[in-house]
Amino acid sequence: MDHPPLEQIWQAILSEAELNMSKANFTTWFKNSFIFDYQNDILTIGVPNAFTQAWFENKFSKDITQIFCKVTGNKLKEIKYVIKTKPKETQNTYNFLAPDPNEQKKDKINKITPTKDESLCLAAGLNAKYTFETFIVGKHNELAHAACWAAIRQPGETYNPLFIYGGVGLGKTHLLQAIGHEMLRSNKKVLYVTSEKFTNDYVDAVYHGQGNTFKSVYRNVDLLLVDDIQFMAGKDGTQQEFFYTFDQLHRANKQIVITSDRSPRNMKAVEARLITRFEWGMVADIGQPDLETRIAILNSKCQQKNFPLDPSVIQYIATNINNNIRELEGALNRIIGFCQFHNCQPDLSITKQILKDFFIAIQANNLSTPQKILEAVANFYNLNLSEITGSSRKKELVIPRQIAMYLLRTKINASFPAIGQELGGRDHTTAMHACTKIEQEIRNGSKIRQDIEQIAQSITSVY
Ligand code: ADP
Ligand code: MG
Repeated sequence: MDHPPLEQIWQAILSEAELNMSKANFTTWFKNSFIFDYQNDILTIGVPNAFTQAWFENKFSKDITQIFCKVTGNKLKEIKYVIKTKPKETQNTYNFLAPDPNEQKKDKINKITPTKDESLCLAAGLNAKYTFETFIVGKHNELAHAACWAAIRQPGETYNPLFIYGGVGLGKTHLLQAIGHEMLRSNKKVLYVTSEKFTNDYVDAVYHGQGNTFKSVYRNVDLLLVDDIQFMAGKDGTQQEFFYTFDQLHRANKQIVITSDRSPRNMKAVEARLITRFEWGMVADIGQPDLETRIAILNSKCQQKNFPLDPSVIQYIATNINNNIRELEGALNRIIGFCQFHNCQPDLSITKQILKDFFIAIQANNLSTPQKILEAVANFYNLNLSEITGSSRKKELVIPRQIAMYLLRTKINASFPAIGQELGGRDHTTAMHACTKIEQEIRNGSKIRQDIEQIAQSITSVY
């Protein structure tokens, strides 16, 4: 029988699922799953093993049903699962984290015979989709983009290390991996890892007494790419090992590129000697894309997916989603899924209808609450929530507390007595004083201003 374009529906489901969990988690569960069949209102999902099946049944059936209905406008009677290997043609259509090459080797069931290039990418930890060809440059990322090219042209020289920072979903991983692809093309030895993978590898090596193997993997590359270094915070042993790795590579003029959600000087629970080194080369930030860039990104994604959309539709999505490029793609996938399923061309009114729930979900996620603000401040300064709201008069708590009060005032317009209350029952005059003080600091162009911008960004970022 004629199947509806199941792959597109799956893409839409993936986009939604991705917004609700960490990228690593998302990759684990969804990477090798796919829609196997859809008939008589019964959806059958192919999963790689019984473990994943159990996870889907327990945790995700309800969500998939809901998303499916939203995307297709049809009802579902039931979801079934079958253990199946994902067909090769659907392997690489979504931006999953690059798989761990060792896992791939172990995974005999999922036997793919990659081309030489693919296998090189895989070994380097790179996802084929994240290249410069698919990367749009705008004002928000032009500095970072230029710095990447400078590092590629003269690796290990002026821009070493290159440190790129910015909020969630703004293209750090894409850019980092693009450098990797580019240097692979000139036959350099490339290794991309998340800082979590570096940590796990290190812990495993220590546990199995394989320190030398670890060193030979990490210290014999021309380019080391470390994504989301902020997750190394508080892990002293790993930081020490990273310090040695860094120094060895740096001394040998090998290029190192690092990404983070914040600037080096704002990193907490990271050794001072590492922070100093992060600032040795070039530090570049990625900001929020402006409207023109968001439109350009959407147009480029439409082209890649071979699904042209009317400019009014593109304009509508780009106007309504403004701080996370991953969400832009999610909205696009939702529309494409719907239209392919119903075999229709989306006009503006269909688009509005399709995206209504999507926007509500994003807004709910982005909505600032006192709790979210306090958590973001605590997280940024590496403090416990109870330290911010507690009564300790320690000096290092003063500024974070004042910033929390300032953000409560400016972000959600809380009254001074309410702010005092949120901060563990402080007097309203304390809240007033804090806001005046922070406003002054901002006017004087102090570093606090940057901190506040980054905290504010982290409140509106969706994981
Ligand atoms: P981050 O690592 O900063 O959280 P990612 O690099 O994972 O963000 O980007 C999120 C999504 O947005 C990815 O699918 C990526 O391809 C896309 N994206 C981000 N920036 C751009 C850009 N400038 N051009 C095209 N796509 C982009
Ligand atoms: Mg990333």
